[in-house]
Amino acid sequence: MNNFEKNIIIAIDGFSSCGKSTLAKEIAQKINYTYIDSGAMYRAITLLAIRHNLIDGINVNEEELNKILDSVQIQFKLNKETHQQDIFINDENVSEDIRDIEVSDQVSIISKLKFVRQKLVELQRKLSKNKRIVMDGRDIGTVVFPDAELKIFMTASEDIRAKRRYDELVEKGIEVNLQDIRKNIKKRDFLDQNREESPLRKADDAIELNNSDLSKEEQLIWIENVLDEKFKK
Ligand code: C5P
Repeated sequence: MNNFEKNIIIAIDGFSSCGKSTLAKEIAQKINYTYIDSGAMYRAITLLAIRHNLIDGINVNEEELNKILDSVQIQFKLNKETHQQDIFINDENVSEDIRDIEVSDQVSIISKLKFVRQKLVELQRKLSKNKRIVMDGRDIGTVVFPDAELKIFMTASEDIRAKRRYDELVEKGIEVNLQDIRKNIKKRDFLDQNREESPLRKADDAIELNNSDLSKEEQLIWIENVLDEKFKK
C-alpha cells in the first residue's frame, strides 16, 4: 500500500468522535499523503473568539470576529517529533488548547457562521491544490471537495463514541465526566446536522463505514481494500 501512486483527495466526513481523525491520520501515513484536520481549524477560530470574549451564550460578536480573522493566520506545521500536523494561530501553537472542553462546547456556534466557513473552505482548498491529501470534517465530501475521488462517511453508536472520547481524554490526564461528554457529542451532532450552512450529511457518492464493532486495525484494512478496489490499475 505504501506505493499508492495515484494523486487523489480522500474526504472523510461523519459524526463527532467516531474516529475520523484516527483513521485519516493512519491511512495518510500509510500511503504517504498529508492529513488535514479541518475540525482543528474551526476549533482554532473558536479559541480566538473565546479569548477575545466574543461569545455570549449563543450570540457571537460577528463583526469583531470577522475583523480579527482578517488579521490572523491559521497554519498547519509538521511537528518533527510527533510527526503530526500542529495548528498555529499566527506564531502560537494552539494544538492542545483547541481540545479544551470549553472549545468543544462552543465550536458549533462558530462553525455555523457563513463568513467563518467561507474563509476556512478557501484555506482548505488552497492547502489541497496538489492533492495527495486526506481531509476529515463534516462537509468535505459535500462542499469543500464535491469531486473528491474517494468519500467516506463514518458513523458509530452514540455510546461507543462517548466512551472512546472519554478514554482518550482520560488518557491525556484530563478530568472529565462520561455524561458531559455524551451531552456534548449529542449537542454537536444536532447542531452540525441542522445548521443552515453546509450541514453534516452523507454525500450521495460516499461509502459508509459504521465502525462501532471495528478495531483501528480493521478500519485501516477496510480503507486499504477500498483503495485497492477502486484505484487498482
Ligand atoms: O472534527 P471536530 O470534532 O474536531 O470538529 C469540531 C467542530 O467543528 C464540529 O463539531 C463542527 O461544528 C465543526 N466542523 C465543521 N466542518 C468541518 C469540520 C468541523 O463544521 N469540516
